[in-house]
Amino acid sequence: MARCDWGWNAHSRRATSGVTTPTLGARSAVRATTLLNNVLGIKFTRVTGAQFTADGLVCDVEPTTEIPRCGGCGRPVRKVYDQRKPRCWRHLDLAGMSLELRYSPRRLRCPRCGVTTEMVPWADPMSWFTHAFEETVGYLAQMTSKTVVSTMMRVAWATVGAIISRVVERRLPRDILDGLTHIGIDELSYRKHHKYVTIVVDHVTGRVVWAREGKNADTLRAFFQELGSERCALIQAVTIDMSKAYISAVSESATNAQIIFDRFHVQRLVHDALDEVRRAEVRTIEDPEDRSALKHTRFALQKNPWNLTAIEQAKLTELPKTNATLYRAYLLKESFAAILDRRQPNVVLAKLEEWMSWATHSGLKPFAKAARTIGHHLDGIVAYVASGLSNARSEGTNGKVRTITRRSYGLHGASSLIALIHLCCSGLSLQPVHTWPRFHQT
Ligand SMILES: [Zn+2]
Repeated sequence: MARCDWGWNAHSRRATSGVTTPTLGARSAVRATTLLNNVLGIKFTRVTGAQFTADGLVCDVEPTTEIPRCGGCGRPVRKVYDQRKPRCWRHLDLAGMSLELRYSPRRLRCPRCGVTTEMVPWADPMSWFTHAFEETVGYLAQMTSKTVVSTMMRVAWATVGAIISRVVERRLPRDILDGLTHIGIDELSYRKHHKYVTIVVDHVTGRVVWAREGKNADTLRAFFQELGSERCALIQAVTIDMSKAYISAVSESATNAQIIFDRFHVQRLVHDALDEVRRAEVRTIEDPEDRSALKHTRFALQKNPWNLTAIEQAKLTELPKTNATLYRAYLLKESFAAILDRRQPNVVLAKLEEWMSWATHSGLKPFAKAARTIGHHLDGIVAYVASGLSNARSEGTNGKVRTITRRSYGLHGASSLIALIHLCCSGLSLQPVHTWPRFHQT
């Protein structure tokens, strides 16, 4: 039996057991470093030694490129300033065993950046994880729950957030804002509705193309600034809610764009008016039983009629007899939805004017107020009917974004949430590591 020449370095215990493989002849011996080179298959990286520690395996590695590259600008720099102490990068586990790469990076005197630490081919400058590890975390975070990601990769969820930010930074297409013509702008609340993120969705692809913390006009102005005047001029339609901040930011920057008010937000105005009427009615009822019955009609009143359960349907059938005021409010809400379902803009305009007159004279103050707001935004509401565009059209994306918000508990800050949104909703295609082309072929 041929004895393999395991090339452990000076720190390691010497392997003495005889190992043969069917592909190796009696005379061929494989060094551990060669074997590990093939196993790891990291581009421009060679393994120079290996050592078992209490935690697993540590591989000593070095870049194969002769001239080191600056960690700041990526240029080759010949002037070496000094060498740092060895540091480790976490790599993918090897057969369930933790695996780290160890290297002493050089510090370089870059003519452009000053003294910087060299760039290594297996990781980003500020990361303690290899690219392969980070991409695997990204792939899993796209596919599965946070518990699975943390457990499988043995990293804290907060660390996953930082890793995802780097993956997104590397993978998000630089031209993601090119060629936008129809966009939807929406706010997303997180941290129990105390904080907001503004999200821009491309209606054509259904992808999130931009996201930033905040929900005021300046937040949105930052998007248009990033877009630049040429790309702003290409935008033909923007769906937004009726907030003054968004309206002013869109009308000053995207001058060619038609503003379309998002149907969901327009209808919510009327839903809120209905709920206000219901609460006022509840307060006027003295009999506790009747009051309780009315209190529990909230969801029945807000739902679309075809989604009602038999119990809710029964409650609403009683409504004209039990509370005529609330029934009037309910009819106003239902007829408003029916108007927006129509497809002829001129008919919708006429019907909306009729509706506003009815609401104003209904004796229901919340509806009179809603009618005034709708009157001020009539063009954008009718534009919805003409174009059929609404943020709900990207409902798949919206639903996904809301799920992501729930997953983001435990991540640090808005930047991690935004990275997670981009990771899952911007069309990034991450592949598991075994599908990658390898530098060393065995
Ligand atoms: Zn540099």
